[in-house]
Amino acid sequence: MKKSEITVYQRELKEKTPQEIISWVIDHFDKNDIAFSSSMGAEDQVLTDMLIKIDPEINIFTLDTGRLSEETYTAIEETREHYNKHIEILFPDSNDIEGMFGKHGPNLFYESIDERKLCCQVRKVKPLKRKLSSLTVWICGLRRDQAQTRSDIGAIEWDENFEIIKINPIIEWSEKDVWDYIHKNNVPYNKLHDQNYPSIGCAPCTRAIGIGEAIRAGRWWWEDPDEKECGLHSQKKLLIKNK
Ligand code: SF4
Repeated sequence: MKKSEITVYQRELKEKTPQEIISWVIDHFDKNDIAFSSSMGAEDQVLTDMLIKIDPEINIFTLDTGRLSEETYTAIEETREHYNKHIEILFPDSNDIEGMFGKHGPNLFYESIDERKLCCQVRKVKPLKRKLSSLTVWICGLRRDQAQTRSDIGAIEWDENFEIIKINPIIEWSEKDVWDYIHKNNVPYNKLHDQNYPSIGCAPCTRAIGIGEAIRAGRWWWEDPDEKECGLHSQKKLLIKNK
């Protein structure tokens, strides 16, 4: 598929349900070139359920940053058991982690935005880039109303950072749609969601939200909302000063 064709497909996919979008992707691309990246958050659990019901052999992977919460590891285990499904786990490069620790210490993310982005780059972006370089299509669980940084995302788009076709089957869904699906289909989910964590990332960078706060207010809560992406889903190139 050429980059220019994506605009045409954006219109076509706009009318389809998430399951129809997933089936369309599987029909249009080689299965070996497609993978779904799951963070084990509620949206991604919905997609895991949909994908496995449509094609049990679909590739699913997750990033173990080394700083995940216990509840997230439990969610990985429960998902593997519930679906009897292999989930590939990606890890950061140990040399990168050692270098970053040596220079910046273990909790560099609280020191500055550049250092926080460096940590995300080492622990998330680089392992993801390694994986995506072997693929043509990347399926994600983004929703448009999760954050202002996601307001103009479509069901299909060309991702400039990773140079890959990105598919967002539930981009039009609301948070209620997600939880209705989870309860109706008995989908396993991260129990931090029951403790006011609507969006879950690494343990030191995620807190529960209060009444009236935005969904992603608990992610890097010390930063400006415009900066709140880790580089996985940002169309802006990350600025990393040193490493
Ligand atoms: Fe590092 Fe926090 Fe980013 Fe996780 S979310 S990679 S701990 S800065």
